[in-house]
Amino acid sequence: MTYIVDENCIKCKTMDCVEVCPVDCFYEGENTLVIHPDECIDCGVCEPECPVDAIHPDSDDGMEKWVEMNRKYSEKNQAFVGFGKKFKLAKNNFNLSKNGSLKEAANNLYKIMRKIKKRNFKSIAIAQIPNIGLGRAINDRLIKASNK
Ligand code: SF4
Ligand code: SF4
Repeated sequence: MTYIVDENCIKCKTMDCVEVCPVDCFYEGENTLVIHPDECIDCGVCEPECPVDAIHPDSDDGMEKWVEMNRKYSEKNQAFVGFGKKFKLAKNNFNLSKNGSLKEAANNLYKIMRKIKKRNFKSIAIAQIPNIGLGRAINDRLIKASNK
């Protein structure tokens, strides 16, 4: 058995679910977070943390399509690189600077690119960094990496 995330998660601003997961099995999906069905250990601690009732056990009625959706996006093997407080926590998300600092982002850039390379992601999606000052150089580097 696994827990899964449904469409209620779209545009959620809280990630309390991710914080409590003991096995780190939340991934960034298309518009929602998703749970990897093979990594979830069925502990259920995330379910009550979700403020919009988006997390359910797959044993609930009508969950088949959501299990498929969670599997599809958790296995897509795509890394997301972002910036700032609003960028979601997830196993495949890499935040250059939670504080929204371009200096910190520049300092973290190569460390994060190394982590992404090590984990062999198929592709990288980028939430654009403010394209000013140091941000221009960071965006250039990220765009080159995402095209490889
Ligand atoms: S708390 Fe609920 S709505 Fe928010 S990210 Fe987690 S699953 Fe989605
Ligand atoms: S049920 Fe447990 S293991 Fe599964 S996603 Fe929720 S917190 Fe993680």
